Amino acid sequence: MPSEPFLSQYPQIDLLISNGKILDGSGSDAFVGDIVIVGDEIVYIGDTNFSNEAYKNRIKLHIEAEERIVSPGFIDLHSHGDPLKTPAFENFLAMGITTITLGQDGDSPPVPILRNWLNEIDEKGISVNLAMFVGHGTLRDLSGISVEPDPSEEDLNRMLAILDSTLEYTFGLSTGLEYTPGLNANEAELTALAKVVGKHQRLIMSHIRNEDDDQIVASIEELIKQGKHAKVHVSHIKSVYGKGADGAKEILKLLQNARQNGVNISADLYPYNASYTGISIVFPLWAKTQKQFDLAKTERRSELEEFLRNKVTRRNGPEATLLGTGPYTGKTLGDLAREYEMPFEQVLIDIIGPKGASGAYFVMNDELQTQLLLDPTISFSSDGRIEGFHPRGHGAFAKLIEEYVTNRKIISLPELLRKMTSQSAQILGIDNRGLLKEGNKADIIIFDPEQVKAVATYPKPHQLAEGFDIVIVNGKIARRNGKADDTFYGKVLQPTSHNTP
Ligand SMILES: [Zn+2]
Repeated sequence: MPSEPFLSQYPQIDLLISNGKILDGSGSDAFVGDIVIVGDEIVYIGDTNFSNEAYKNRIKLHIEAEERIVSPGFIDLHSHGDPLKTPAFENFLAMGITTITLGQDGDSPPVPILRNWLNEIDEKGISVNLAMFVGHGTLRDLSGISVEPDPSEEDLNRMLAILDSTLEYTFGLSTGLEYTPGLNANEAELTALAKVVGKHQRLIMSHIRNEDDDQIVASIEELIKQGKHAKVHVSHIKSVYGKGADGAKEILKLLQNARQNGVNISADLYPYNASYTGISIVFPLWAKTQKQFDLAKTERRSELEEFLRNKVTRRNGPEATLLGTGPYTGKTLGDLAREYEMPFEQVLIDIIGPKGASGAYFVMNDELQTQLLLDPTISFSSDGRIEGFHPRGHGAFAKLIEEYVTNRKIISLPELLRKMTSQSAQILGIDNRGLLKEGNKADIIIFDPEQVKAVATYPKPHQLAEGFDIVIVNGKIARRNGKADDTFYGKVLQPTSHNTP
């Protein structure tokens, strides 16, 4: 029971969660206890005995957890969306996520001062907390470098200066080296960027240059080089058409060796065997932009056809590409080939083009990805967006519990939750969330793991997850029994691990 001084310090209790099975996010086993919240802060964890009549009138709101799990809200290390358009983000709340990360894959809002955009979000409200990254591709565009492979010193310095000022209030830099314009960056540019990120003690999150099984090692090694100057992180780690547990072991060993050499490297993963991105992913480096594509179409037509034929075939064929935008939604590339009565590579060239669609690609191997998922150092992301045509945007964090704890029983709930909460907070450098601890912010979820279900499927990807009965953001109930509050309680987070000169 809390001491008398404690009770006089907090004459009013905003929220009491009693009798929960507390999994605090550290990986320790559950213990039964109560959590006391004042304002947005956890002020006490233990046995309150507040059911005692003497205290009842001090408690504004009381949730009886009835021995359900009480844990920190999940932190999504790779999310997408526009909070100015869809601030409610019920897709994330419904799967227990209380903090998202935006500005991913090298792509943040193309505004000259990101701070203004973030202030607008704070003013208009957002249902979940937001940890923001600034995109390398966006910085290239803002500084006039765009797709130039060899930027002038003046342009490069302009980009570094924008990065430098933006890192004061963001969590780091994201790169998208598989996408234009980021793919044009050379080693010198990436090193220069990493030095600025390191100076601010921030993080580089990278969609690495190439995730194919024969390129992934080289691509991670490229990131490790940046890791000599800053903390680095592999986004949505995967081996495209790699197979078997050995493929995962090789990747994990590479990360382990880098850590032994003093590089602070981490990674996240989403629990699905299909990726989702723009169709340009299957086009060659020389036909990714519209301009390049128009030229390639007339001057290198047969070469382009052959490239696409081989690439898609290697990616498990046209039936393994499920399109998710516009008129193609729900159709595979194979379906379109039959519909238009032409080979799929011609559909890609004459009907769709590199900018014409996004799709889900069934290119991952379950054994390999599961091996990665179980590794203690790997954390998690949804890589989801509310309107995206992939179930990860509404299901990822529920699926982690449903599939790997409840159904397959290959990881314990305390360990999985640690990877979904405190480890993710540590990666981002958030020191007051991700762990249920006195003094930390009250981002808390209450659930029965047996009831957690990822309802979203590939044909119906927009179905909300079930089972997270209560989702608390900054001490307020953001969603309860399937109903989201009309008020938003999320915040634009400020990085805390700063040590700026
Ligand atoms: Zn990505």
